Amino acid sequence: MRAAKLLALVFYCGLCGCAVSLCGCIPVDIGEFLTPGGKPSDKKIVSNYEQTELKVSKAADVLTQVHMPEYELLSKSKSVIACQGKKRRKWEVWFNAVAFDENELTANRKYLFIVNERPKKLFTEPWEGVRFDCETVLEGDVLDEPYANENARRVAILKRVLEDFRKDMDEVGSDNKKLKICRMMVNQALETVLLKLDSSPALASKLSEPEGVSFSHTNLDRGRIQMTRVDDVVKIKMRLGSFTKKFIGERKYKCSECGYIYDPVAGDPEHGVKPGTSFKDLPDYWVCPGCGAGKSEKTWVKCGRK
Ligand code: FE
Repeated sequence: MRAAKLLALVFYCGLCGCAVSLCGCIPVDIGEFLTPGGKPSDKKIVSNYEQTELKVSKAADVLTQVHMPEYELLSKSKSVIACQGKKRRKWEVWFNAVAFDENELTANRKYLFIVNERPKKLFTEPWEGVRFDCETVLEGDVLDEPYANENARRVAILKRVLEDFRKDMDEVGSDNKKLKICRMMVNQALETVLLKLDSSPALASKLSEPEGVSFSHTNLDRGRIQMTRVDDVVKIKMRLGSFTKKFIGERKYKCSECGYIYDPVAGDPEHGVKPGTSFKDLPDYWVCPGCGAGKSEKTWVKCGRK
């Protein structure tokens, strides 16, 4: 609605491709008006990313899963499909990319970046950070090779993820400035983590824990990374800058009936809930261990951020 009102005040100049306001001669970037206002939500972007199933999704599936027609397609090569969008506010940008297995032609790796560079304003704090998620199918050598211990294997796996990430981003080969900056930040962050693990190898065992491993980041001050593996599929969750605050993602919730506190870091393993499960992701069957209240009942109140 707001975009429609703004459009009423401008006309499009066919000669130079810019928009000119009727009340003066102020050049306006027409792309700003054509970008769907405030959309898509982070939830939608993440949901698109999650729809791609490694070893199953083919290029045609991926195109409908990660690419929204109103946003830019950066690469549609045989090996990588990548797309990006900018929200109405210029400081929010996102990328989705999927790389394919050359023989099977199914998705082999997928990446998601959300970058936020919200500046400080009168009533809001600045929010500068990167959310990076990645899922990749590992080749046999890094899984089968006899490493000295599991920590050495974890480091080798992380190195492989970084190599693949560089290769896939090269394949996208776009001149997109934001993508280049994101690539640089993620690259820097993964190199910093590898250096940290090199000096303290025992830390690698914490990579799969809900809190992951924290580290310093050159541009964004701090970061946190988690790496989990199920058979030959590795999942990386990395947050830089302000996004680090949301690493565990959710507050604790207290049952006002009986005083039980659900802590997402601990989960509820006795009742089948893994550590690191946020309150909203609790299974429907789960009830308060103290009084039996369901998770959708009004008895639950937020009680502080982890
Ligand atoms: Fe309770």
